[in-house]
Amino acid sequence: MQQAEVAVIGAGVVGLCIALRLASEGRDVLVIDPEVPGSGTSYGNAGTIADYAVQPVGTPAVLRALPSLLFDRNSPLAIRQAALPALAPWLARFLRQSLPARAEANARVLAGLLADASALWAGLAADIGAGALMQDRGCLYWYQTDAGLAAAKADIAFRRSLGVTVQLLTAGELQALEPGLPVAGGGGAFFPGARFLTDPGRVMVLLAEAAARAGARFVRAPVEALSVEGPAVTLTGPGLRASARHAVIAAGLPTRRPARVGGGPGAVAPARGGPLGRGTGRARAAAGWRGWRATGCRSTPSGAIIWNGTWPARR
Ligand SMILES: Cc1cc2nc3c(=O)[nH]c(=O)nc-3n(C[C@H](O)[C@H](O)[C@H](O)COP(=O)(O)OP(=O)(O)OC[C@H]3O[C@@H](n4cnc5c(N)ncnc54)[C@H](O)[C@@H]3O)c2cc1C
Repeated sequence: MQQAEVAVIGAGVVGLCIALRLASEGRDVLVIDPEVPGSGTSYGNAGTIADYAVQPVGTPAVLRALPSLLFDRNSPLAIRQAALPALAPWLARFLRQSLPARAEANARVLAGLLADASALWAGLAADIGAGALMQDRGCLYWYQTDAGLAAAKADIAFRRSLGVTVQLLTAGELQALEPGLPVAGGGGAFFPGARFLTDPGRVMVLLAEAAARAGARFVRAPVEALSVEGPAVTLTGPGLRASARHAVIAAGLPTRRPARVGGGPGAVAPARGGPLGRGTGRARAAAGWRGWRATGCRSTPSGAIIWNGTWPARR
């Protein structure tokens, strides 16, 4: 049986950062993941250190749009009917959290969590040798019409009230910043605190290497059961029997793959992140995005659709 002070289940960005920090403090850390560290969702995301992303997913606006989202086949919230009973408790919680007071409280919590994210990531990137993979160019929201900019002002004011730095740009200022944009009206909102990882997958490799250098050990196996026996946590799975004083579950998104973790039924398995893309479903199919599922999309006034989504877990 493998012994450790702390077992970290899952080697995505969350597990790797925790493992690096704990190992750097001199703790005996065992990271358990059936896959190559950092090869899950953390491998292929959009790489933005988004200090401005203080709005939770569940908001009154999402509540208002829910009927159209649910009945539109191309919506990011398409739900298979067969999955509805299992999803009902989660959906009920989501709806409650989307009410105005809860959404605002959640935004405040997110703002607190994100306040130092950009500075902390800059320090982390330098520590693990990923400084060259981080760009410090902020993030720009482009509103192509005056109406679009006017409609966004309440949202911008709300972010400001939560401490997010945002500069409102007139159409002229926007064009001076991004001369390539065909700006006719509208304007922009520029978030100078946002940073960007040019290659999140490579950053994950460097994170895993740094954690290993700090002393973290890695085991390639899935945790399928976790039980507390006296002062120890026992973790088992195919090819795995480990015991630790503490366990951190950082196993990413739940899927239908059954696993007993934390003593109850709960599944842990990754979804692979995909790059942000542009285009219609046909364009995505042409680009070879077979199996890709949208997790979000928004349309621009010009009719382009900006998508993000995932590929199914590779199992
Ligand atoms: C398309 C897309 C774009 C995104 N863009 C951004 C962005 O720009 N900025 C941002 O901040 N976030 C972004 N995200 C979100 C971000 O990628 C995720 O929040 C983050 O990667 C989650 O990290 P994680 O460590 O929790 O999960 P993961 O990276 O999925 O890692 C979980 C790990 O747990 C392992 N695991 C699963 N089950 C078990 C088990 N039973 N036993 C042991 N190990 C197990 C998996 O193999 C995996 O390696 C994006 C996501 C997507 C999909």
